[in-house]
Amino acid sequence: MRTRITLACTDCKRRNYDTTKDKKTHPERMETKKYCPFCKAHTLHKETK
Ligand SMILES: [Zn+2]
Repeated sequence: MRTRITLACTDCKRRNYDTTKDKKTHPERMETKKYCPFCKAHTLHKETK
């Protein structure tokens, strides 16, 4: 049972990643450090709808 989510850069607010997550292991909004091609750096990416 996996849910589709979008990860958006918290610096430039662009949505860079589409992924899935398991709601059982991650009931909260996911926050991951990922590379943002717009900021050209690793930034914090948050789950959006
Ligand atoms: Zn960014």
